[in-house]
Amino acid sequence: MRIACGGIQHETNTFASQPTTLADFQRDSQCGDDFAPGEVIERLYTNTGTIQGGFLQAAADEGIELVSLFSAHAQPAGRVERAAYQRMMNLFLDRLKAAGSFDGVALDLHGAMATEDHDDAEGEIIATVRQQIGPQIPLVVTLDLHANITERMAEQADCLIGFDTYPHVDMRERGDEAIRTVVRMVREEIRPTQSYRQLPLLTMPPMQCTLREPMLSLVSELHALEQRENVVTATLAMGFPFADIRDAGASVLVTTDDNSDLADQLADEFAGQLWALRDQLQPELTSIEDAIRFSRQQDDGLVIFADGSDNPGGGAPCDGTVALRALVESDFQNAVVGVLYDPETVELAHRTGVGVEAEFVVGGKTDDRHGAPVQLHGYVKTLGDGKYTFQGPMRRGCAGDFGRMAVLQVGGVQIVLASRRMQLLDAEMLRVVGVTPERCRLLVVKSAVHFRADLGPMASSIFDADTPGIHRPDFAAFQYHALRRPIYPLDSQVAFPSGS
Ligand SMILES: [Zn+2]
Repeated sequence: MRIACGGIQHETNTFASQPTTLADFQRDSQCGDDFAPGEVIERLYTNTGTIQGGFLQAAADEGIELVSLFSAHAQPAGRVERAAYQRMMNLFLDRLKAAGSFDGVALDLHGAMATEDHDDAEGEIIATVRQQIGPQIPLVVTLDLHANITERMAEQADCLIGFDTYPHVDMRERGDEAIRTVVRMVREEIRPTQSYRQLPLLTMPPMQCTLREPMLSLVSELHALEQRENVVTATLAMGFPFADIRDAGASVLVTTDDNSDLADQLADEFAGQLWALRDQLQPELTSIEDAIRFSRQQDDGLVIFADGSDNPGGGAPCDGTVALRALVESDFQNAVVGVLYDPETVELAHRTGVGVEAEFVVGGKTDDRHGAPVQLHGYVKTLGDGKYTFQGPMRRGCAGDFGRMAVLQVGGVQIVLASRRMQLLDAEMLRVVGVTPERCRLLVVKSAVHFRADLGPMASSIFDADTPGIHRPDFAAFQYHALRRPIYPLDSQVAFPSGS
């Protein structure tokens, strides 16, 4: 049996000022400028906690031939440029054609990509691939928990399989599940029948976290549902709210083995369970001043201030300064702020040298929505090349590259700086420049939720930040024009649609 696989991954923040270019995909994908297939992809992802890692493992276990045709991703940012999308799709489709005959296709997509031309980019990708392979070849797609799933995506794929976790620690399992689902379809053991329900509901990242209630219990319900007779898989997609597109927001999918009535009934029931939790899914935010006050009242223990408003994992600049400024001005002792994207200051620090004092202008350089640059006097504590390997539950085993890094010491505050914009989600991303997070009192992370997988267990308290930014978990901060209405919680009168 031969299964072809490939994917283009992007989470698009349509409120971001920076578009996403072909060069961004080329740099982040680590497969060369032409996105080399086959061995290059296998070398990057074998034995890693990723979708591709799961694809490869399942193919080896099942004894089938997996043909890895294309793998591209870029850091979340603004809309993907037309030329970038076309170039990548052409490469992928050409290789799919040249691959000869195969029995099935598995795609690893995000589900919240928007290009200059397509608000529903994944719907476009899946439909294009479907058109090329024809209606008979099994087509299974993995999606992020933040996928804004559309009717078109559900129609064009035989089965969509979303992550069940946020932090996303089940990527490898979902990749494995996707390949096994294709294999079972090819062997004619199952005939997936999928029901899709979109809810009039938009939620924000902090409360989408599956380590907290109410999501913790809801995911247990999802897993119980998947154990029912004739159910193949089920998905709870919370959606990506920082996208002004029609279909942003929550949806559920239930896939049965050739039983559409059961799929419809269970999808309605599960959508109802999610809808009932809508009030509990609204976050509570804390100012940095309150977090400082709280931390000073504690004898010990690590307090984490999750600056999700400036989360690069959702397309934000990652150089916001509101928390940094407050910590320096309050003369806080033993705080760490990281990891800020500021290649200019990293360069200056490398020219300055370890142990040398200087004047620095840190952060606030991408736009004026995340706090102004901060003028600081401090010294260079450490320097590094920014190369590390993920050790925590997310992306374990993958190689990471921050570009050159520097740590500045300003009074009692350490500022961790990198030359590449990436979300802090693994303690190794701090240890690589000599910072020991568990020894600090207050840690500001440029992350909304993912940091919880590895850094969360070290913390005695975690606060969701009340800071400005294009990833701020607060609907009052955004103007939506393309989003379907009415929708909760933006509109007061929102009825739950029963049945389809
Ligand atoms: Zn996600």
